[in-house]
Amino acid sequence: MAGALAWFRRDLRLDDNAALGRALARSTRVFCAFVFDSEILGALESRADRRVDFIWRSVGELRERLQEAGGDLIVLHGRARDEVPHLAAALGVDEVVAAEDYEPAALARDAEVAERLRASGIGFTAVKDTVVFAKSELLTQGGRPFTVFTPYKNAWLKLVGEAELAQRLAESDLKRLARPPVATRLPELRELGFEPTDLAASGIRPGERGARETLDDFLGRIDGYHAQRDFPALDATSGLAIHNRFGTVSIRRLVRTARSRRTTGTDFWLAELIWRDFFFQVLHHHPRVTQEAFRAEFARIEWPNDEDLFAAWREGRTGYPLVDAALRQLNATGNLHNRLRMVVASFLTKDLLVDWRWGERYFAATLNDFDLAANNGNWQWAASTGCDAQPYFRIFNPVAQSQKFDAQGEYLRRWLPALANVPMKSIHAPWRMSPAEQAACGCVIGHDYPAPVVDHAVQRERALALYKRARP
Ligand SMILES: Cc1cc2nc3c(=O)[nH]c(=O)nc-3n(C[C@H](O)[C@H](O)[C@H](O)COP(=O)(O)OP(=O)(O)OC[C@H]3O[C@@H](n4cnc5c(N)ncnc54)[C@H](O)[C@@H]3O)c2cc1C
Repeated sequence: MAGALAWFRRDLRLDDNAALGRALARSTRVFCAFVFDSEILGALESRADRRVDFIWRSVGELRERLQEAGGDLIVLHGRARDEVPHLAAALGVDEVVAAEDYEPAALARDAEVAERLRASGIGFTAVKDTVVFAKSELLTQGGRPFTVFTPYKNAWLKLVGEAELAQRLAESDLKRLARPPVATRLPELRELGFEPTDLAASGIRPGERGARETLDDFLGRIDGYHAQRDFPALDATSGLAIHNRFGTVSIRRLVRTARSRRTTGTDFWLAELIWRDFFFQVLHHHPRVTQEAFRAEFARIEWPNDEDLFAAWREGRTGYPLVDAALRQLNATGNLHNRLRMVVASFLTKDLLVDWRWGERYFAATLNDFDLAANNGNWQWAASTGCDAQPYFRIFNPVAQSQKFDAQGEYLRRWLPALANVPMKSIHAPWRMSPAEQAACGCVIGHDYPAPVVDHAVQRERALALYKRARP
């Protein structure tokens, strides 16, 4: 073979990298490249985007590691669909290898790249790396895609074995890395049109090294995961989602780690990794979910979509403390605990009666770990429009959720300074305080902290009517 080009995308690591492993196994001269894709970057709303900062830092680390191993990372800035075919032709390789993507826009880009490469006599291979089981590897006994999680999980656990979890890259093959004829530099973040962010203050450590440290820290508390994961005031979950998003950690390594311990904590955590695979296969089999409800009957819901209520939700001023604290944390840091994502998604759709796609879009713009498959799948779960979703008549009570999952109001006080002196008995529903109590604790409702924008009991009935009306 004349050589191969390993095109890094959402697999920004050396460890267990399937695309690089494949290129090194098949070719004696392997170049590596990453493209800051102007089509993706141009669509981002903020110039201070932590995701771009994360990628930029991770690419920098990857480049250093490849250089230490005797290769290099060619870093380009432009339209990937142009840059990759040009680069492959200029390097004279006969194959481009990349990690398989499952998002419709990425698939369209890859199809175009493959076509243009083919016209120059160059092959394009996309290999599975992001998930354990992809596409149709796991089907029901009737040969159909799973739409219910528990049987999917059982089948997943039955099938997973050494073959699926094997290392995809032999370190000894790294000697086949080649240095490009012309070295490229890593553009500054500002040259890409972005500003440095408060990534570190958000508790995020980028790169493969950051992923390893994050995982190591989590292993110290993983055995308590099942008992503690639902409490936002605790630091009980892994914080690895952004690393899963950009492939700074190998999903196979995570699964191997979880399986090697077999405690209740690791079993619960493994189930979350399986949810991740589940939503990837939903997206693969039903790409229409990016536009519409998975369940056809709920595509007919006539959402009132009140713009003012949506703005109150976005800005964390609904008057419901748990919802407001969550949105304020999201806006300030880009991080949000899973329990809170469920609570605010339920509140937006079933209390404020706003289309789940509005919330999905807002999360896509703000979450550090935004991932199309997981975000869409979970929004459809919360809105009861998805496969195996929360039944539409199970509507979270935002006050009860607050009492249950932040009983001491620790999380609420962290994000809502106006509630700092509100007595414990009132912190979850401060509007229930008498005027005298409000004055005494310095939290006058409507002045220091908003009055509830809706009445949960009333909205609950309206939501039920809305869903019932949509059903045949
Ligand atoms: C409305 C809503 C939107 C969401 N949007 C996203 C998103 O854009 N990106 C995203 O990665 N997760 C999303 N999630 C799922 C979940 O909230 C996050 O994965 C989790 O909070 C990340 O924190 P962690 O890394 O500490 O997770 P942990 O609890 O440590 O879980 C381990 C890993 O499993 C995966 N995972 C965990 N829960 C889920 C889940 N429910 N669905 C799919 N994968 C899961 C993640 O990769 C995570 O890193 C969403 C959930 C909801 C309810």
